[in-house]
Formats: sequence, C-alpha cells, structure tokens
Amino acid sequence: NEIVLFQGVDKIYNTGTVALNQLNLSVKEGEFISFLGPSGCGKSTALRMVAGLGEATKGKIEVFGKNPKDVIKTSNDVAFVFQDANLLPWRTVLDNVLLPLELRGSDKNSRKETAIKALEMVGLKDHLKSYPRQLSGGMKMRVSIARALAAKPKLLLMDEPFAALDEMTRQTLQMDLLNIWEKENMSVLFVTHNVYEAVYLSTRIAVMSARPGRLSNLIDVELPYPRE
Ligand code: ADP
Ligand code: ADP
Repeated sequence: NEIVLFQGVDKIYNTGTVALNQLNLSVKEGEFISFLGPSGCGKSTALRMVAGLGEATKGKIEVFGKNPKDVIKTSNDVAFVFQDANLLPWRTVLDNVLLPLELRGSDKNSRKETAIKALEMVGLKDHLKSYPRQLSGGMKMRVSIARALAAKPKLLLMDEPFAALDEMTRQTLQMDLLNIWEKENMSVLFVTHNVYEAVYLSTRIAVMSARPGRLSNLIDVELPYPRE
C-alpha cells in the first residue's frame, strides 16, 4: 500500500539549477503529507514529478508502484489542484467540473450526478449554473477541488492551493479539505510554505531546506484527535 515513492531523486534543470538533491520519501495509503519549505526549495518540482510532469535526473519515482506518466495516462487515480483554480471562463461551474469526466467518457447522466455530488461536497450545489467570474476566489478554489474530486482520485496533489486566499477563506477551506479527506479514502500530497498550514493539515511533514532539494526532516504531526 505504498502510494508514492521517491528514491534518491535528483532533479537538475537544463539551466543547471539543482531543484532536488537525493530526495527520499515513502507515502503510505491515507497519509496527508505536506512538503514544507521556503520558495525555490523544490516543492513544486517534486509534486509535478508525481503527476508525471518532468522526469528525475537521477533516482526513482513511483506512484502505485508504477511510472507516474503511465499512471496518469491509464487511470483517474491521481488528481492535481494548482494555486490558480484554472477554470474555463466560458463554462459554468457544473460544466467545469464535468470537463474531465467528459474526457473519460462515462455515460452522461452518471457524469452529471458525479459532478453535482462533488460540488455538494465543497458546498457549491447552489451555484451549478454560475460562471467563474461570478465567484469569489475561495469559491473558484472550491470548484477546482470539486473538479479534482469528481474523478474519485486515490491520490490528490495540491500545490499551494490556498496561498492566494485571505486568511478567513483559507481557514474555512482547510477545514473543509480535512473533512473531505477523512470521508474519502484518499492520500494527499500538499505543497506549502506556510508552517501553520502544514501543521494543521498534515499527518506528516516533509521539511525541505533552502539548500537545494534537501529533505531535511520528516516530522510526524501529533493529531488533536484520532484519524484512522
Ligand atoms: P518551490 O516549489 O519550492 O518554490 P520549485 O520546485 O518551483 O520550488 O523550484 C525549485 C528550483 O528550480 C528553483 O530554483 C526554480 O527557480 C527552479 N526551477 C523550477 N522550474 C524550473 C524550470 N522549468 N526550469 C529551470 N529551473 C526551474
Ligand atoms: P463546449 O465544447 O462544451 O461548448 P468549450 O470549452 O470547448 O465548450 O468552449 C466553447 C467555445 O468557447 C469553443 O468554441 C471555444 O473555441 C471557445 N473559447 C475558447 N477559448 C475561449 C475563451 N478564452 N473565452 C471564451 N470562449 C473561448
């Protein structure tokens, strides 16, 4: 039940930048792991490689025991949420969430049902017909999360999803994300430079140092309540 494995991973961009230097990490089923570290320490680079975007210069990365690129091509098991909600402006909230489901061609009614359920989960079932421009930043992020959840991923990758939001909105979304993560059988890999966010959300924190790509420490977070 190993979900993600980094084994001695180096990433050196062709500009010569060392983004990762001997990264080792094993993510087990159901974990919520944050990559925590200052800007430029290689967090996004690590996360993107789990999504099959970019290859390691050295070492091995596996997702569900396979090459990440193959997993992305052949299954819906991995979903990605970016800092920018990335919604299509000319599509309604519902149609934005439907888009990835359409690309996978299940039948139309069940797609719609799935999309509406996902939007319910993030508290947006009254906004199915709205357009992105009619939504606040927090609501857009909710749509983006619903779009990722609709595919029922086993692994959710999130790159600073709340960084652009005000503090109140961020806190609400953090709580909602935890609730969803507890209900769904899902592992999360989360990128943040915010210590409090990492401590609040994670079961373990991979602390990366400003020295390129050093995973300095893995911290088990003591939870205020049991999480099984
Ligand atoms: P973080 O997410 O922690 O801010 P990144 O993974 O984005 O860090 O970047 C790590 C380092 O790699 C930085 O020095 C960044 O400038 C560099 N970098 C990121 N992407 C590229 C790229 N496509 N080409 C060259 N250098 C890059
Ligand atoms: P659908 O195919 O479900 O109607 P699409 O997402 O493919 O919806 O887009 C609908 C139309 O909007 C397409 O003809 C597309 O070319 C056009 N379009 C593309 N980019 C934009 C944009 N930035 N703003 C508005 N319309 C766009």
